[in-house]
Amino acid sequence: MSSAECDLLVVGAGAAGIAAAREARALGLSVRVLEARGRVGGRALTDHSLGVPMDLGATWLHAAQSNPLVPLAAARGLGLFDHDTARTSRVWVGDHWAAEAEAADYGRAERAWGLAVRLAAARLGPGASLGEAAPRGGFWDATLTHWEGPVIAAAEAAAIDLEDYLSTLLSGPNLLPHDGCGHLLEVLAEGLPITLSAPVDRIDWGGARVRAEGAFGALEAGAAVVTVSAGVLAGGGIRFSPALPPAVEQAAHDLPMGLLNKVGLPAAGEDRLDVPAFGGIERRLEEGERAMTFVAWPFGRGHLEGFAGGDLAWELSRAGEAATVDFALAELRRMYGARADRALRRDRAVVSGWGADPWSRGAYAAARPGRAGARRALSVPVGGGRLRLAGEACHATLAGTLAGAWLSGAGAAMEAAALLRNRAGTAQPVPGPRA
Ligand SMILES: Cc1cc2nc3c(=O)[nH]c(=O)nc-3n(C[C@H](O)[C@H](O)[C@H](O)COP(=O)(O)OP(=O)(O)OC[C@H]3O[C@@H](n4cnc5c(N)ncnc54)[C@H](O)[C@@H]3O)c2cc1C
Repeated sequence: MSSAECDLLVVGAGAAGIAAAREARALGLSVRVLEARGRVGGRALTDHSLGVPMDLGATWLHAAQSNPLVPLAAARGLGLFDHDTARTSRVWVGDHWAAEAEAADYGRAERAWGLAVRLAAARLGPGASLGEAAPRGGFWDATLTHWEGPVIAAAEAAAIDLEDYLSTLLSGPNLLPHDGCGHLLEVLAEGLPITLSAPVDRIDWGGARVRAEGAFGALEAGAAVVTVSAGVLAGGGIRFSPALPPAVEQAAHDLPMGLLNKVGLPAAGEDRLDVPAFGGIERRLEEGERAMTFVAWPFGRGHLEGFAGGDLAWELSRAGEAATVDFALAELRRMYGARADRALRRDRAVVSGWGADPWSRGAYAAARPGRAGARRALSVPVGGGRLRLAGEACHATLAGTLAGAWLSGAGAAMEAAALLRNRAGTAQPVPGPRA
């Protein structure tokens, strides 16, 4: 099989792959990107079937003050809205909406919950899970553990390594791109040499060069950055020859994919359920209860976005889209009664499908209890640096985010560039290693 050639091969055109390709180009390398899907963006995808942009994957640009995508969006004139300035929440407490005093109590409980988890980390030591550290028995504890586990980390608290959880810095400000995160990545991928619908089946890194093969043919490069999800890696989505070192292979298994599903429910008429634009709708939970949370009418648009995470998301994913819509409406019916069915159109609902998608196999990865080192192990260069894994799962502090994926991909490309320059005997200083 004849093969094309380049300096750097990038596998995957999600955030990490786009960042790697841009960085490689900026450093003067010839680069090729092979992407399995027929689109760029990976787990960032902006859907337009409701007539307005709705992100089915990544939604917020977290930690905006240091998020590399914020200045890139701004430079292209793409609008960003600080969600934190408009964040309100309606909380259903058993049979009524939380009054001001109850809402304030919820806020205090949130701060106490965070403190208790940090104190427990010192007491429990390495290897504990978030579930072990999370306080129990307080009026709001189960609700807060549900937020931090299934809704934010996309996994049950008992399945998340505590150190890994505490290392992830999802602080604000949390910006919402006006036209969607998926759209932002599409813009940032413009002009890059990306071949779509080109799944890589096999990567041979045993020789002096790296060779990728698939139905597209073959491509040889001086080095490769592979940005597929930990789920794709652990599931054998790409055959490596020789096999990846056992520690790297193990790391992929120690970073199982959590699942977060989104559902978009358009308004049927004028009823906005007494919630302002960007308002949250949630309810207080008892221990073991599962629920969806909602963000209503983003940007004043006529739809409500629901989120289901963790075991519930996997169950709904297996049961199909209709089950997800049913669950969302049942959840809203608890709070609004039959008004929920009148206010929303189930026939036009949009549901994300990351769980069944072979190119993601979930939403994002959380380290298993006792495996806090897995992200670093997954990022260790292989074959003297010819092969590097990158992506959200590889970032130590911004795991599970676009920013983490972006920085991981850009860093991997920088390191590959340094290797290729050294090999060519033209060593030049290249900015330092990735986080
Ligand atoms: C529902 C949901 C909500 C989220 N919310 C947020 C949020 O609000 N903020 C935030 O920052 N992050 C959020 N995230 C996480 C964020 O989307 C990811 O962390 C990020 O997009 C991961 O980027 P990546 O480049 O590491 O991986 P990916 O985006 O998965 O990119 C990898 C690429 O590799 C391709 N690929 C896979 N296998 C092959 C193969 N064999 N050959 C070639 N190509 C292949 C895939 O198609 C994909 O395009 C969310 C994710 C989901 C699913």
